[in-house]
Amino acid sequence: MTRRNARIVAAVLLGLLLPLPPAVQAADDEAESPPPPMPMNVLLVGWDGCDREHVKSLLKDGRLPNLQKLVERGRLVDIDIGEYTDTKGGWTQILTGYTASVTGVYHNAKYQPIPRGMTIWERLREAYGADRIATVAVIAKKKHLDADPPRELTPEELEKLRSKAGNSPAAAQPGKNVVRTVPTVPGCPYCLASQSTDWWVNDLGKGENVTSVAIQMLDRYQDKPFFFFVHYAEPDIRGHGTGENSAPYDDAIVACDRELGRLVEKLAAMKQSDKTLIYVTSDHGFDAGAKTHWFAPYVFLATNDAKVNRAGGRADITPTILDRLGLNLLAFRPALTGESLARPITRPVPKPTKKPVFR
Ligand SMILES: [Zn+2]
Repeated sequence: MTRRNARIVAAVLLGLLLPLPPAVQAADDEAESPPPPMPMNVLLVGWDGCDREHVKSLLKDGRLPNLQKLVERGRLVDIDIGEYTDTKGGWTQILTGYTASVTGVYHNAKYQPIPRGMTIWERLREAYGADRIATVAVIAKKKHLDADPPRELTPEELEKLRSKAGNSPAAAQPGKNVVRTVPTVPGCPYCLASQSTDWWVNDLGKGENVTSVAIQMLDRYQDKPFFFFVHYAEPDIRGHGTGENSAPYDDAIVACDRELGRLVEKLAAMKQSDKTLIYVTSDHGFDAGAKTHWFAPYVFLATNDAKVNRAGGRADITPTILDRLGLNLLAFRPALTGESLARPITRPVPKPTKKPVFR
């Protein structure tokens, strides 16, 4: 060996023996160890406008056999709503774990796009790797569960608002209501979040259609752990149509149960039943004897997850799911408003004490 070659060999050996500088080592470690796989699939099922007392009495009468089977394996707990009892505010809270003061989505007429990164689809992609899980939304409604970007008002819409403002001075007051006072429609709540999912579809209408699309998507993404949000609109539509105290309203809830049965059957056929946490919940109830839900704060969470052990609020649902997947809730920024329903309560759940004033 020449002296030069000996020097090269010595330098290589020294390089092997010496520890790498910390920055290089950290980068290598990161490259070598991807995050652990998502340990369970999650199916979050939304029954829009489904009042708790109706669900309980239909369960008692044996008319919700599929929900009954879930509850027998897991739990049925009360969800009380301390904020507006409508669709935009409701699902936003359920799908983020934040109150409206954090997301800016207060109610159907006062909203903005949910800030980037705050929804459960985005949280899970961040935690487990966007290409290592499937994040899907299959939604019945268009209105209030929408992903449209901001746009200018059409001349007709503008004219309508002007004449309305002429009749009502409050409507013309700047700053009172974003939709009414500026000549644009703000971006809809999911216009950012929907870009960070593998598949996002809304406006599917009937429950049968929603389930069929969800089943197609389960087939498409069968090779990955998944988070699906599957939303049904019938109870809300029937409630507005024939009222809370009507047979069609109950029938609509029964129809949702039938669709739940199809989803559960599909999971069984895929041999994913034991690997899937299923949560069924609602955004608001209905005013007693009425066709409205101005103050309808009593809903529910039904699940096959036996670790859920207490009542809570809408903002607790995303934290519960994140916790049950093993994620550290304290690490999320901004700090989550809600808490896990699988752990002891540390902050009071907002209580529905009075009808909220729309601002
Ligand atoms: Zn409604």
